[in-house]
Amino acid sequence: MSFVETLDNLALRKSELVERFEHLIEQKSDQDLEAMAQASRLLTLQNFGRTMRLFAPLYLSNECINNCRYCGFSRDNPILRVTLDVNEVVVEAQHLARQGFRQILLVAGEHPKFAGRGYLAECVGALAPDFSSISIEVGPMETEDYVPIVAAGAEGLVVYQETYNRSIYAEMHTSGPKRDFNFRLDCVERGYAGGFRRLGVGALIGLSRWQDEAMALAAHLEHLFKYCWQAQITVSLPRLRPAAGGFHPLFSMTDRELVQLVCALRISFPQLGIVLSTRERALLRDSLASIGVTMMSAGSHTEPGGYTRQGREHLHRTVRGRIVAPEYQDGEDELATGQFEISDERSPGEVAAVLRCHGLEPIWKDWDQALCGA
Ligand code: SF4
Repeated sequence: MSFVETLDNLALRKSELVERFEHLIEQKSDQDLEAMAQASRLLTLQNFGRTMRLFAPLYLSNECINNCRYCGFSRDNPILRVTLDVNEVVVEAQHLARQGFRQILLVAGEHPKFAGRGYLAECVGALAPDFSSISIEVGPMETEDYVPIVAAGAEGLVVYQETYNRSIYAEMHTSGPKRDFNFRLDCVERGYAGGFRRLGVGALIGLSRWQDEAMALAAHLEHLFKYCWQAQITVSLPRLRPAAGGFHPLFSMTDRELVQLVCALRISFPQLGIVLSTRERALLRDSLASIGVTMMSAGSHTEPGGYTRQGREHLHRTVRGRIVAPEYQDGEDELATGQFEISDERSPGEVAAVLRCHGLEPIWKDWDQALCGA
C-alpha cells in the first residue's frame, strides 16, 4: 500500500494521531516542554527499559550516480572515491567487532555498477557470522533485488526521504535516478515485501521547515506501523552537517526544537526506535539519551576504509563522473572523502561509559535475534 496518496493529501486530511502530533510540535513554554520530556522519558523506560542500542556505520563505497546538492558524495564533486572489496569490508568490520559492535549499518552511495545487489549480498554474507544485526543504507531497489540481500543475512533497511516536500526535493536532486520522488517514497514497503524486518526512515533537517518535515514523517510512520506491522520501525532526524560541495542548510532547527521533536515522536509512537547519530554534539546526545533516543552510532567514520585505512590501493578521483588518477592536494590524506563531518568524536568505549553514568545499559548485540537463534 503506497504512502504517496496520503502524503499528497496531508494538508487536507489528517488522522487523529497526526493532528495530536501537530499540537505537540507547536511552540511550547518551558514548563510544557518539561512535561513533554517527563512523559517521553517514562514512555521510553516502559517500552525499552534502561537500554541504548549501539551501532556503527560501515561505509562500503562513496561512488554515486546522483547529484544531491547537500551531499559530499554527489557525482560531480571531484572527491577521492573508492569501493571496498569484500576482504577490505571484512577487515573494517573486524575492527568494529573488536570494539564491541555486533550491530552494523552498511552504507553506500547509489551506483548499481559498484554497489549492486550481488556485491551487497556478498558483503552481508561475509559479515553475517560475526554480527547479530546487519542493516543497509543504499540506493532504493526493487523488491526482487532485496531478496538475496535478506537471504544473505541482512535484517534492516534504512531509506531517508531527505525531504517530503516535492518541489524542494526536485530542487535538491538535480540529476540521477534519485529524482524519482515516488520510487524512493515507496522503497520502505518494497523492502518489507523483500523480507526486511527493521525499517528506518527519516528526513534531513535543514532542507525545509522542520515542522513540515515532522508532520510528513509522523504520517509516514503511522502508515508504516499499519502496513508493515511485523517490522520494527525506526526514525532518524539528521540535521545537515558541513560536507564537500559547501552546501549550507536552508532552514535551521535549534537544539530545543530537536528535543521537542524527539519527545513528540515518543509520545505519539511509544514503540518507535529513535536513532541519533554522531552528527550531533556529545553533550546534546547525552541529554537526548535519557529522554527518548533508543539507538546511537558511536566512533563513526563516514569515509569508506576510514576505520582501518582500507582501499587506498584503488583510490581514485572522479571529475564529473569520469575516473582520473588521484593527485593528492596539499595536506590531503590518502583516504576516500567522507560524506559529512561528524561532531561527536568520542570512542565507542567513551560513549558507553557516559551512558552507564546516566543509568543506561549500552546494548552492543541484538538480543531479540540472538535469543531466536537466528
Ligand atoms: S545523498 Fe546519497 S544519493 Fe545523494 S549524492 Fe549522497 S550518496 Fe549519492
